[in-house]
Amino acid sequence: MEGRTPIIAGNWKMHKTRAETRNLIRELAAGLRINAPECEVIAAPPFISISDAVEETKNTKIRVSAQNMHWEDRGAFTGEISGPMLREAGCSHVIIGHSERRQYFGETDEMVNLKIKAAIKHELIPIFCLGETLAQREDGKTFVVIKDQLIRGIEGINSWDPTRLVIAYEPVWAIGTGRTATPDQAQEVHGFLRRELGSLAGIDFAAKVRILYGGSVKPDNTRSLMNRDDIDGCLVGGASLKSEDFLGIIKGAA
Ligand code: PEP
Repeated sequence: MEGRTPIIAGNWKMHKTRAETRNLIRELAAGLRINAPECEVIAAPPFISISDAVEETKNTKIRVSAQNMHWEDRGAFTGEISGPMLREAGCSHVIIGHSERRQYFGETDEMVNLKIKAAIKHELIPIFCLGETLAQREDGKTFVVIKDQLIRGIEGINSWDPTRLVIAYEPVWAIGTGRTATPDQAQEVHGFLRRELGSLAGIDFAAKVRILYGGSVKPDNTRSLMNRDDIDGCLVGGASLKSEDFLGIIKGAA
């Protein structure tokens, strides 16, 4: 993880009203003022709370991410939000390809790829999620699945800037289940991803890009994950909803 600043990103999913978003950001900002670890902190509230989050994060080190976007800039796509809209609202990042979107909203690798390219075009940093299901892991297919998702997700990208893309390995069996991948299991996949990225995008990009782990990260398991060579941060769901836990994770990562 040498030379790569850690990232801790909170995916709030469909939690937190606008008022709750403001409160949580205020608590996080206050915690980070007392203890300012060397780490990038990102909050991903629901779309409707993004402007509130952006306002509350002014003069703090917290950056704001969306949880999804459409790949077109505008058009007849009821219920969707585009890259230019997210940029105007003040987002710096956007989560793309989260397993809940793949599982419940039918997102395919092709859609994920279009979204990643659109995000990069609009200067949003995609947090590109990939990961295997329990059945795929038990069938011994983890690496085949991960490689396939990776290749399809980044297909057609031709400019490789390690500051403009973040990868998040999120084993589906560990998301919201309380079952975290062991540091060995996570490191094995992160190392694999970095090697694959080396052949797909070049050694320099692979050495510098941040690869986050996600799946039941808590304050008490952050450090053991972060101690591993290729784990550069965490994408956190449930534990990012309480400032005390989220701050504990940030502390464990720095
Ligand atoms: C997630 O939703 O990205 C996630 C990792 O959730 P949790 O931390 O709750 O497992």
